Amino acid sequence: MSQLMIVACPHCHRKNRIEAARLDESPRCGVCKAALFMGEPVDLDSGSFNSHAGSDLPLVVDFWAPWCGPCRQFAPTFAKAAGELEPRVRLAKVNTEEQQALASRFGIRSIPTLLIMRGGKELARVAGAMPPGQFIQWVNQQLG
Ligand SMILES: [Zn+2]
Repeated sequence: MSQLMIVACPHCHRKNRIEAARLDESPRCGVCKAALFMGEPVDLDSGSFNSHAGSDLPLVVDFWAPWCGPCRQFAPTFAKAAGELEPRVRLAKVNTEEQQALASRFGIRSIPTLLIMRGGKELARVAGAMPPGQFIQWVNQQLG
C-alpha cells in the first residue's frame, strides 16, 4: 500500500493525488491529462503559487528578475537541475519584477533567492546563486 501524495500540475496547476511509488512512472494530470513532470522549471505567479507550495512535493523556487546578471547566469543550472531532481522535487521560477506581491510576501531582498517549500511551509532559503553540484547538494541536504 503506497502513500498518497498531493502533486500540483505544472500546466493547469490543479492538485493531483498520486501514489508516491508511482512518481517516477511518468504520471499524468487527472484534469488536463498533461505530463506532471517535464524535467524543467515551471513559471509561477500569485494565482498558481499556493497550489505548488502547498503540495506534498518539495518546491524549490528561484526568485529572479530579468535585469539581474547573476540570475541569468544561474538560469541554465537551475533548469538542468530540474531534470536531475524531478520527480522527487518540483522546481519553479518566480519573476520578482512581474510578481511583486509574491516577492514582498516572502521578503525577498536580494536575487536570486532560492527557497524550499513543502506543505505550505518554508523549509529553507539561501540568497545567491550556486554552482550546479553545490546547488543539487544543497537541495538534497535540506530534504534529508
Ligand atoms: Zn493539469
